[in-house]
Amino acid sequence: MITFFPGPSQVYPEIKQYLADAFDTGIVSVSHRSGQFNQLSEETIQLLRLKLAIPENYTILYNTSATECWEIIAQSVTRCQSIHFHSGAFGEKWYQYAKAIHPLSRENKMPLNEPLLLDYMDIREEDEIICLTQNETSNATQIDLETMAMVRGAFPQKLIAYDCTSSMAGIHLPFALGDIWFASVQKCFGLPSGLGLLILAPSAVQRIEELGEKSHYNSAHTMLKHMQQFQTSCTPNVLGIYLLNRVLHQIPTIEITEKRIKNRMSQYLNLFGGKDFYPLISNPAVRSSTVLAVEANPQKIREIKDAAMKEGILLGSGYGKWKENTFRIANFPAIQDTDFQRLVQFLTPRVV
Ligand SMILES: *Cc1c(COP(=O)(O)O)cnc(C)c1O
Repeated sequence: MITFFPGPSQVYPEIKQYLADAFDTGIVSVSHRSGQFNQLSEETIQLLRLKLAIPENYTILYNTSATECWEIIAQSVTRCQSIHFHSGAFGEKWYQYAKAIHPLSRENKMPLNEPLLLDYMDIREEDEIICLTQNETSNATQIDLETMAMVRGAFPQKLIAYDCTSSMAGIHLPFALGDIWFASVQKCFGLPSGLGLLILAPSAVQRIEELGEKSHYNSAHTMLKHMQQFQTSCTPNVLGIYLLNRVLHQIPTIEITEKRIKNRMSQYLNLFGGKDFYPLISNPAVRSSTVLAVEANPQKIREIKDAAMKEGILLGSGYGKWKENTFRIANFPAIQDTDFQRLVQFLTPRVV
């Protein structure tokens, strides 16, 4: 079975060997206070910078998931309130997590097919962090480079946080245009779940130090202290970090990956111009490069998913309110060329 589910998703085929290597080298039993761990952790962070073009002066923290990142941002980087702009389920969930900790947090729902405009962005003095979902996995929208530059330019004094769970390691992210970036690894990194990455600009680190919040095992303030030795506050997912390290060695730089991803996306888009199947997101400026949502009537959606299943192809289901009338395709780097070709061959006679 080939899966095109956008998370958890197809992992790199090399993972099988890396798991065996992890066992054989004994890394699975190593102490997280040992030199061997420090070395693995330091090298992994250097590789992240190198392969994803993360600036030298940004700090990278390990945790368990994107959900944990939502919570850490609320508990350790926010004094009273954050503001959230979203058009889909993950952006909304982030707001719910923030509101549970800081009831004054605010949300703004964005129209599905329109870019974020300054006109909607009623940002007030008291909004401390602007929270944006760079790639909204539920409806396959994205916030593009121009919009990110616009937001940075309009609000130079605010912290800006981007959820990039389904785009980091798939597209080239402009880290200089935001203060907080995060993802978990079961999407574009092509890894098993259980590891999250929180990336902080010096501005975010400074805010964490000013707030000095230390009442949780995962307080960012405590995690930053441990990270000075490339360590974590609790025993981390050492196996996950090891697998991440191996995958980072294997993958090309992000510019090369992005080209490949965008090329595949345009091939998919060529297929879905017909009258029955079309992209849920018609505006190219807000359409994701790493996840495609294809819309059709619910019966056609059911039929094509069933037909795919018979051929050993698992198409991603629609999410939330788009469950019945869309299917999704993960356009993630770990999907092999042969699997991509197989999906294109399956789809071509059925949708064009
Ligand atoms: C998958 C996803 C999440 C949740 O990730 P977890 O690692 O399960 O917490 C959050 N945001 C976006 C945009 C996602 O795609």
